[in-house]
Amino acid sequence: MTQEKQIAWDLYHSYENFKEKSLTNRRFKHSDIVPLIEQLKNNKIFKVDKVGKSVEGRDIYLISLGSGKTKVFLWSQMHGDEPTATAALFDIFKFFSDESAFPEFKNFLLSNLSIYFIPMVNPDGAEQFQRRNIVEIDLNRDVLSQQTQEAKILKEVFDSLKADFGFNLHDQGRDYSAGNSINPASISFLAPSPDYEKSLTPPREKAMKLIGNLVNILNEFIPGHIAKYSDDYEPRAFGDNFTKWGTATILLESGGWRGDREKQFLRKVNYIALLFALNSIASGSYANTDLSVYESIPQNEKFMMDLILRNLIIKRFENDYVVDLGINYDEANINGAKDFYLKAEIKDVGDLSVFAGYQEFDLSGYTVEPGKTKTEAYHSLEELEKINPTELYSEGYTNVILRNNNFQSDYSHHPFNIILDKKFIPGSEIKPEESPNFIIKKNNEVKFVVVNGFLIDIKNIESWNGNSIVFGK
Ligand SMILES: [Zn+2]
Repeated sequence: MTQEKQIAWDLYHSYENFKEKSLTNRRFKHSDIVPLIEQLKNNKIFKVDKVGKSVEGRDIYLISLGSGKTKVFLWSQMHGDEPTATAALFDIFKFFSDESAFPEFKNFLLSNLSIYFIPMVNPDGAEQFQRRNIVEIDLNRDVLSQQTQEAKILKEVFDSLKADFGFNLHDQGRDYSAGNSINPASISFLAPSPDYEKSLTPPREKAMKLIGNLVNILNEFIPGHIAKYSDDYEPRAFGDNFTKWGTATILLESGGWRGDREKQFLRKVNYIALLFALNSIASGSYANTDLSVYESIPQNEKFMMDLILRNLIIKRFENDYVVDLGINYDEANINGAKDFYLKAEIKDVGDLSVFAGYQEFDLSGYTVEPGKTKTEAYHSLEELEKINPTELYSEGYTNVILRNNNFQSDYSHHPFNIILDKKFIPGSEIKPEESPNFIIKKNNEVKFVVVNGFLIDIKNIESWNGNSIVFGK
């Protein structure tokens, strides 16, 4: 194993010692990270500065360490709902805080580099768990116009540093795949173009080589799950302009990973990637990477869906058709955007053989029909609790009506949808954009149901851990 791979594996194996354990999912807020930043002031290796305030008055911090000649600037979460790298930055702070661990490695980094971090550029967006800032402007289209305080701060810090390397840290949709493979694009990179001609300027070439070096290392951990973001020039975006203005800028996007909706594994991959990148810059080893590594990274494509049910028989005008059903889950914020429920949608119906699912089931020989709504209403939550779901499903129902004005939720953990308004008729067709609520039969008996896009084996209802939807509120 090369020395570089050994470093990466050592970081991988020791990660739990440095993980910032107070950040447990993606919906942490500015108020969760401020105490962590304040703590860094107690450690003399960190310099902590407030560099401005968000529109709603939240402090934005610049954290610096190291005294080396080469400047590296990393900023995260300019899109409020893209927090994976922010959590990884706090793991990295913890790593540097622990004096006993990796002393030589850290000394090497801190004597060769000056490292600057802005974690959570858009704290107001994070508060709402939304992409844009609180005045609904996308910061990553505001580098030229400079209308938002947050974009001004990022640009001012960039101008004051004139860093050699920049890391623009984002999250991307779970629907991206690594090329046309069945793998999610778990990490996508880009050395952004400085102009419409996509010129290969010296900073861009540096960024490409560093990315190539990172890909060689990350292939140890996530082989086949690395892709390249579109290199179309976006004149209003930070990364493109920072490249144009001379900083070797690397876009890193955290995408999806099977079984990791909260992206805690990808957070670990970010931690390894960023620490490794610092090492590669400090040693200069990135410069030895052939540009062909970057060029051969597969493109980001959109071939992932959350759930694919394969080979179902569907009746249309008395004829049988064999189709795949593709379903996606959207997150809907609740509890002040500290939590979410999932709202499913049929994405596509037909031959979905070019798509891959985070989950897939082959239902060859089974027939699918729309789930029905039971017309006799229930009048209390107690009555709902008494429903035997197996009986309900066997009669073809996936939805019930509730007459109760006190019921206020948008979703439910009952394994059937709840309809509050008598006049509301939920979509009962199996077609794109509809809510996926089906019964799935074999030999005319209901074997599975799908409620809000979650597949339930009616013999094993206890295993249900999805959520249903409350309609007609
Ligand atoms: Zn983004």
